[in-house]
Amino acid sequence: ASRAQPGVRGLRAYDPGHDLVALRARFGEAGLLELGSNENPYGASPEARAAILDQMHALHRYPDPLGADLKRALAAKHGVDAAQILLGNGSHELLMQLAQVFAGPDQDVVYSRYGFAVFALATQCAGARAHVVEALPRDHATMPLGHDLDAILAAITPATRLVYLANPNNPTGTWFGRDAFATFMSKVPAEVIVVMDEAYAELADDGDTDVASGLPLLARHANLVVTRTFSKAYGLAGLRVGYLLAARGLVAVMERVRESFNVNGPALAACEAALRDESHLVWGRTRNREQREQLAEALQARGLRVLPSRTNFVLVDFSRQDDAARTVQVEAALIARGVVLRPMAGYGLPEYLRITVGSQSENRALLSALDDVLRS
Ligand code: PMP
Repeated sequence: ASRAQPGVRGLRAYDPGHDLVALRARFGEAGLLELGSNENPYGASPEARAAILDQMHALHRYPDPLGADLKRALAAKHGVDAAQILLGNGSHELLMQLAQVFAGPDQDVVYSRYGFAVFALATQCAGARAHVVEALPRDHATMPLGHDLDAILAAITPATRLVYLANPNNPTGTWFGRDAFATFMSKVPAEVIVVMDEAYAELADDGDTDVASGLPLLARHANLVVTRTFSKAYGLAGLRVGYLLAARGLVAVMERVRESFNVNGPALAACEAALRDESHLVWGRTRNREQREQLAEALQARGLRVLPSRTNFVLVDFSRQDDAARTVQVEAALIARGVVLRPMAGYGLPEYLRITVGSQSENRALLSALDDVLRS
């Protein structure tokens, strides 16, 4: 480790929360209730599945290095030029490369406390300095633990190169609105790149004008980058495809560091097919919203504090008088029953567990296991 560059020396490897391979072996895949990774309980579009099978004859070929067909389809969907899109091996890869390209030693990257974990990782790997801005307070009336855009703006200095925002954010589920974001962008200096991580945007976008997206502002701000993913609303987490949208010049610079064949052929074909099957997306979004509301109500009825969410997960406080001991006990007791949630100690939120909104039957099974645990 002493040979690694300073930013990397202080890092810890990605912690998925639990050893899922061992848990699947113990409980069997059907016996394990996996609500720890914000995956889509309904799976991918049948058209996306068929498109993968259709690629089997071409596995010996390299994929299109530019992913031109998928970019064209995304450009049409978002009303931008294909040259404004870059594909990534998951949006995680793109978030990492943004810091690599735009920030370095003695330069600052600004993000909110409880912002998505990759922001910190990307900053450290780039050898840049993290400026972590306090989140809105836990007892905030509408958006506890959410991004404080005013404080983020105030944290920008001449050393700042990059600001990471997630809207909605993981692990908090919180969001900020369109007007607040438009004002924020109008005040950010043009030299500072603002990354809007919109991994959950398709789940929030149900005619709800509350949740800001960077897309309508791209034409006005050449320093704005939006990242999206096929992992959540499209149910294609296993394929690892994300993309970013930005001004052409910025995309062209990012192209220089992209690995030539970073998105594989079956994944390209499946994502194109998924985009054609809008009804699957809309159906899943509607189910998710219903189930999220029901689950939040059921948890609240059990005396638990549930943070507001526009995603496919909820953050829940299981502590007693802010003592995290009960959260740890509940989590361990649920694991013993084959129920996987995401512990939040790594985020500095040990009182909370993050619960992915499952299907109706999964949520019922969770609540029944939880009742069992809370009773004992
Ligand atoms: N951003 C946020 C806010 C996320 O929650 C996730 C997935 N957990 C990602 C980005 C990365 O997703 P992927 O690499 O699968 O596109």
